[in-house]
This record gives sequence, structure tokens and C-alpha cells, in this order.
Amino acid sequence: MTQNVAGDKANVESITKVGAEIHGYEPTPSDLRRGQSADLILDNGMNLERWAERFYNSFPKVDRLTLSEGIQPINIAEDSYQGKPNPHAWMSPQNALIYVENIRKALSKADPVNAATYAANAKAYSQQIQAIDTKLKQTISTIPPDQRYIVSCEGAFSYLARDYGLKEVYIWPVNAEQQATPKQVEKVIETVKAKKIPTVFCESTVSDKAMQQVVKETGAKYGGVFYVDSLSPPDGLTPTYLKLLEYNVNTLIKGLQK
Ligand SMILES: [Zn+2]
Repeated sequence: MTQNVAGDKANVESITKVGAEIHGYEPTPSDLRRGQSADLILDNGMNLERWAERFYNSFPKVDRLTLSEGIQPINIAEDSYQGKPNPHAWMSPQNALIYVENIRKALSKADPVNAATYAANAKAYSQQIQAIDTKLKQTISTIPPDQRYIVSCEGAFSYLARDYGLKEVYIWPVNAEQQATPKQVEKVIETVKAKKIPTVFCESTVSDKAMQQVVKETGAKYGGVFYVDSLSPPDGLTPTYLKLLEYNVNTLIKGLQK
């Protein structure tokens, strides 16, 4: 997102690597060097980057901005995360528009000379996000209301579900080191059976072992992976945020339409 708003007026680098598990990421010495020399560091916030505070402590003078500022949080309902905001706000295109505006403001403040370019880039990029928003609304409207379920490993679709009228089912609320208790898996199996949900999914950055057990015990189809916490490599299926959104929408719709 930031690359799109910055265009060629700033060097934008990601701290976490493609395909990495981001919640519990361990910054490397090279990440620390890059952080130290940055003019501005952007993070998602809402406890997504559990390592962020420690990371920032190494260079307290570098400006930082939390991109989820202004987004209405959805709190997690269970486990040790109970009452904390679900961090996956970017998964809803409607929230993405708020991220883009926050990025535009931050870049314009850090580099006022290029503010007009950032504004033009942000506008063009937001229009692309709005096109996906429209497509998502249209395609979901073709699914009967009682079949609008999104079943995945991580509870990463709470915002998408809220904003687009889907019901979310997941095995664990947030990716963590210890995943999938038998109780969590059993709950999903019961729901998939009771609601006759045809297709289930998992995310690209975690093992789908627990979800394959749901498949085995319910007869639901495995619809493939969603890209949530990481993009794919440049030659992969989701090398950009917009491609990630489109890929997930297409994967979901393909699964729900059977
Ligand atoms: Zn996640």
C-alpha cells in the first residue's frame, strides 16, 4: 500500500520477508540497521506485530505511524486474546481505504514537497480498492444469505465478514506458536456439519493439518489457501496487496458457489 502511495518519491522496504509468519517475527540485525536509517516506519498496530515495541526501542528517534488508526476495532472473543482487537483490519477493502489515507497523511508530513504526488497516487490507488469493494459486494449478493460462511484456520476475516455480510468460522483466533487444540477443531467440525458448509480454507503462512482433519470428518471440500499475513514472492499468485484481495475474493467465491 505504501509503495503505491509513495510512487517513485520514497524508498519503501518491508521489514518482514515474503511468506514469513508476522505475528511472532524476530527482527534480524539487518532489520535493525534498516530501521535505524529509516525516515519513517509504518506498522499495522492492534498488536499484530507483537515484536514492534522491542524493535522500536532500538531507535526511539525514528518517526513511526500506526496504520490502523481510526479503524473501528473488532475484539477477539476467546482464548488468551479475549477482549483484544483482532489485528487483521486490512483484510476488508473498506478499511484499506482508511490505511491509504493514513499513509498519504504520513508521507505528506514527512515529505511536504511531494504532497501533491502522494495525494494523486492515493486517489488512484483508492479507486482500485473501491473496484474490488464493488466486485466483492456484487459477488456475495449472488450467494444465498444462509450460505455466506467463510471458514478458515485463523480468525483473520472478522473485518471482511463484518463489512460484507459474511459469517466467520475459524479454528484459532490469531496465529500463535501453539495451534489447534482438539476442542477448537471439534467446534469447527460441528459448525461445518450443522450449517452444511461446502468448502473450508486455510492461510498460506500456517499448516493446514487441522483443517484437513475438518475436511476428513465433515466431507467438506478443501478450497485452498487465503493470503492474509504475507504476500507471495514476486512471481507467485499474490505479489501485491490488490492481487491478494482479488485472489482471496475469487478463491472464496469459487468455494461458496459449489
Ligand atoms: Zn494473522
